[in-house]
Amino acid sequence: MNDLEFKHKVLDPKSASFCAAKWYNATIWLGSGQTTSCHHPPAHAIDAEEIKTRPSAIHNTVEKKIDRLNMQLGNRPRGCEYCWKIEDMGRDSISDRVYKSRIYPLEALNEAYQQPHQADVNLRTLEIAFDRTCQFACSYCNPAFSSTWVRDIQRNGPYESLVSDGRGHFTHAHDRSQLYRFGETNPYVEAFFAWWETDLHRTLQELRITGGEPLMSGETWKLLDWFKNNRGKSSTRLAINSNLGAEVDVDRLLDSIEGLEVDIYTSQESVYDQAEYIRDGLDYTAWMANVQKLLDSNRIRAVHCMATISALCLDSLPSLLYQLLEFKQQYGRDRVSFTLNILRFPSFQSALVLPDELRARYKDRLQDFWNRNQLNPYMHEHELNHLQRLIDYLDIVKTPHSEAFEMPKLHNDFKQFFAQYDQRRGKDFAKIFPQLQNWYQTL
Ligand code: SF4
Repeated sequence: MNDLEFKHKVLDPKSASFCAAKWYNATIWLGSGQTTSCHHPPAHAIDAEEIKTRPSAIHNTVEKKIDRLNMQLGNRPRGCEYCWKIEDMGRDSISDRVYKSRIYPLEALNEAYQQPHQADVNLRTLEIAFDRTCQFACSYCNPAFSSTWVRDIQRNGPYESLVSDGRGHFTHAHDRSQLYRFGETNPYVEAFFAWWETDLHRTLQELRITGGEPLMSGETWKLLDWFKNNRGKSSTRLAINSNLGAEVDVDRLLDSIEGLEVDIYTSQESVYDQAEYIRDGLDYTAWMANVQKLLDSNRIRAVHCMATISALCLDSLPSLLYQLLEFKQQYGRDRVSFTLNILRFPSFQSALVLPDELRARYKDRLQDFWNRNQLNPYMHEHELNHLQRLIDYLDIVKTPHSEAFEMPKLHNDFKQFFAQYDQRRGKDFAKIFPQLQNWYQTL
């Protein structure tokens, strides 16, 4: 059954808005006490009182239960607008509602549809962040996701004169993202472990741990210790997002995950000093060594490199891609993969702020990589698709997203931000990006 047939034969007969992600999938930020079903609906607060007696309320919130009822009745929850927009483009448009439902067995879909909407449901796929502890402060991140970013703001104050940062990502410490200090009891974390012990470890098919840098968080190690001390008790597949910085204890990780099925997702989009400029805190050589150590061990299923495509990474992105190709040749096609994720926020760091001639030059280099490797058996189909999508993006798209500010404001912010970033972090934009220097000086 293809995706469209699945929609017509399995989903739509239940209702025109039924989506199993509302029952079986969640992202939960335990530091801020918030959750959502998939990445599209806005996050909402978890009731701190309810979870004291019903730990699964970190997922089964009143808001999600109302959405479930609406989906059973065929009404469209407002938070899922992303999917409705795609479906309204035309009868055959496939939204994430389809992709995110068809990963579950038919019996699970029927059960979700038939059970009372007030029922508590055990998750099958979960992405969880314990806290925002992170030793990096990447240029495109912000204090909501990094404790090192928090320190920058606390020490140096807000970034000034940014006109496109309407939500103030770089102006305050985002205290709401971390409700409890280190050492304090976080009831959301307590509820997660309580639920994990009683039910979740039996029902969860896939658990992805994110952060911050999850391997800098004590709670991640507590969970990994649970796996170590309870071998064979859970068949949950583990995925861990990690920056694989020098401080990450890869040996401890390998020791903890023996006998488990684990995928590592790591962020990287350029090489050496450019990578270290973009991802402040990174030691590129140490990152490479950690990737190799993971691949040399037989305890990791695969290392997936997630590239965040911004204006700064395009110069050395092809070098990274060739490096990843070398890894693929050395370790196997399926043990190393990459995705190219186009940065839209903060929009002043988008690749689209670059002048046309630079964009065209970078597009041509990527096209050259694509031409040379389109038949390379080590390349995955999704990798070629991501490359093609980026080439088209650099060629055709002119504004980062529909609500982005006009280009002079984005250019103002690019200059303002990186001038302050250099000062605060002891960096030198012009030295690290000589090919952007002339353009940068005109801003
Ligand atoms: S309908 Fe779409 S936006 Fe809503 S939960 Fe499902 S996949 Fe996510």
